[in-house]
Amino acid sequence: MTRFWSEKTRRVEPYVPGEQPLDKKYIKLNTNENPYPPSPAVKEAIVSNVSKLSLYPDPDCTALKELIAPKESLNIENVFIGNGSDEVLAFSFMAFFDPDSTILFPEITYSFYPVYSSLFNINYNFISMKKDFTFHKTDFFQKNDGIIFANPNAPTGIYLTLDNIEEILLGNRDSLMIVDEAYIDFAGEPSAVALIKNYDNLLVVRTFSKSRSLAGLRVGYALGQPSLIEGLERIKNSINSYTIDRLALAGAQAALEDEDYYKETIKMIIRTRNNTADKLEDYGFKVLPSSSNFLFVSHPDYNAEDLFYVLKEKGVLVRYFKQNKIDNYLRISVGSSEEMNTFLSVIRELLEGF
Ligand code: PMP
Repeated sequence: MTRFWSEKTRRVEPYVPGEQPLDKKYIKLNTNENPYPPSPAVKEAIVSNVSKLSLYPDPDCTALKELIAPKESLNIENVFIGNGSDEVLAFSFMAFFDPDSTILFPEITYSFYPVYSSLFNINYNFISMKKDFTFHKTDFFQKNDGIIFANPNAPTGIYLTLDNIEEILLGNRDSLMIVDEAYIDFAGEPSAVALIKNYDNLLVVRTFSKSRSLAGLRVGYALGQPSLIEGLERIKNSINSYTIDRLALAGAQAALEDEDYYKETIKMIIRTRNNTADKLEDYGFKVLPSSSNFLFVSHPDYNAEDLFYVLKEKGVLVRYFKQNKIDNYLRISVGSSEEMNTFLSVIRELLEGF
């Protein structure tokens, strides 16, 4: 059968998104979604924009940029908006890394980075990790054309300090560093955005999917010096100027304006995360220190893949990665305290019955 696939389509190994199951209702702890609904203001804003859907949205997303920029002590020229941070990341790979160049990222990290690399023909070398999933810092000083990592990292949840990030930036003045801060709001630690004014080679990527409870709306953004933002706008306007629809813009703006709601839900998630971690440790799990809205855990006496399937059968969906070094770990998103109590009692029963 002729498939008409280009060589690139044949070569790429696409990302496999976490399951969004349709067969039954699960306690869904597998894709790091927020267990709380978005701010009520989001619904109001979206509904009131339905009547304007006959008009194209603002391709520059100016109103949203005007809300984001001052929160970060930046100007709108420092902000790029995309259809989820996945799109922002894809555009960044296109805008800043040439085919046949070599970039660096940790051996355990967000699994979209190797996918973009193969799609755009970019070589990559891994930054190796120690047993405790921290980096060998010297690896960042090998020759490269770019560096990308998530901070806090995924799926480990481990946060890298700004001092470390600055040291890596100083040693890599001629290559672009992308810091993917999808989970920074759960860290209670400073963002790399503070370094943007001093480093024109730093791009920070964020999302509304996690702390703002808007994974379904698809809005992400990048922050950096204007030359980087211009590069991203060039790519976006060479593909699709309207990647952010009118409802998404209205919803994201409303979410940003309801700061109190979002601070409260973050607080609840952090509290639940810490309580769940303590309980899992009581049950004998090794729990990595998490600065995010998920826990990365393993048990010395039980096989993670088996646990994954048994949990699923019992109606609890978590994430398992069949990947070297982490194939005895489970990643568990932090749900509401009720969901986590149910999860913990299911886990406890399982461990007793294994
Ligand atoms: N970066 C990291 C590290 C992530 O875990 C995710 C979500 N899976 C994303 C980016 C993408 O998030 P979104 O496209 O929903 O903004």
